[in-house]
Amino acid sequence: MFRHGLPVLLFCFISLCATSAFAEWFSDEQAIMGTSVGVTLWQEDPEIARRAISAVMAEMRRIDNSFSPYKPDSELSRVNREAINSPVTISGELMTIIDKALYFSRASGGAFDISFASVGRHYDYRQGQQPSENQREDLLAAIDYRLIELDKTSSTVSFKHPQLQIDLGGIAKGYAVDRGIAILQQFDVTNATVSAGGDSRVLGDRRGRPWVIGIKNPRGQSLAGDPSESEDRVAIKLPLQDTAISTSGDYERFFIDQNSGERIHHILNPRTGKSVAGVTSVSILGPRGFDTDPLSTAVFVLGIERGLALVASLSGFDAIVIDSAGKVHYSDGLTPPVTEVDQSP
Ligand code: ADP
Ligand code: MG
Repeated sequence: MFRHGLPVLLFCFISLCATSAFAEWFSDEQAIMGTSVGVTLWQEDPEIARRAISAVMAEMRRIDNSFSPYKPDSELSRVNREAINSPVTISGELMTIIDKALYFSRASGGAFDISFASVGRHYDYRQGQQPSENQREDLLAAIDYRLIELDKTSSTVSFKHPQLQIDLGGIAKGYAVDRGIAILQQFDVTNATVSAGGDSRVLGDRRGRPWVIGIKNPRGQSLAGDPSESEDRVAIKLPLQDTAISTSGDYERFFIDQNSGERIHHILNPRTGKSVAGVTSVSILGPRGFDTDPLSTAVFVLGIERGLALVASLSGFDAIVIDSAGKVHYSDGLTPPVTEVDQSP
């Protein structure tokens, strides 16, 4: 009896150490998909934590390699080259993403439209370039999600306009954070966050406290050297658990047109092919990034009234919209903590 007691006691001691002393937060951040991808998780075994994080990062790179419009070998680039001529066979995964995009196009009356790229690909925000008026008007007819024909039985897609091009920039990052969370769940992780730029999803809580996700003040001051993460840019802090949140902002990718003084940014109105004015930031809360990501872009295009009406018509979502005067608008499900953000330079 006694001889067996020691190993049992020892075992208890070791497992106690493992759960209380060694368990900790692990996190990593990498530049993927043209943005910063972050993973934070709670784990007892550092080796499992390392494997889980690297599996999420590998998945992010795989998604980027498949659906980037900038990589000539991606499945998306192949579709953009070939779907104009005849139906192209696509993967089940791309089919699911295009199908979801078309759902949000119909739901938003065309405000969300992945064929925005027919015009959108002629913008280069880093170089400060935009399409000429003629080019924009010529290509406008190629922005129309109804000209994207998805055939689920034959697994093909075809474009019904010779200049039509698609870009998944408004939906792929939300899809990617969901994939990241699913992978962490396979590793039995129960407390984590995965983010890709403005799209985040939190799993569980922060062990007894909620996760706190900040919404940036679109016109807030940023510290030199670190324009993205300085504390004074955070306008609203949200305590969250088991939620996805996607923010679309006009401050992420933009330049100021030297002639007109207008802010030319990366969210385009499919009806005009021009950057949307009126709101500066839209955040959508909901169960999955695959929905909150396209919805945040759609609401940005629709503006406050029609955008909030769309959110109210779908169940399970909430919205926080900051307009160009700095006023904060909330969907009915939320209690407003902050009603205005400082716009002073
Ligand atoms: P972020 O890319 O910063 O997360 P969004 O989720 O709002 O922000 O996505 C903006 C991206 O969506 C743009 O960079 C572009 O790739 C794409 N996009 C722009 N306008 C539209 C639109 N009207 N419909 C669908 N996608 C769009
Ligand atoms: Mg979005």
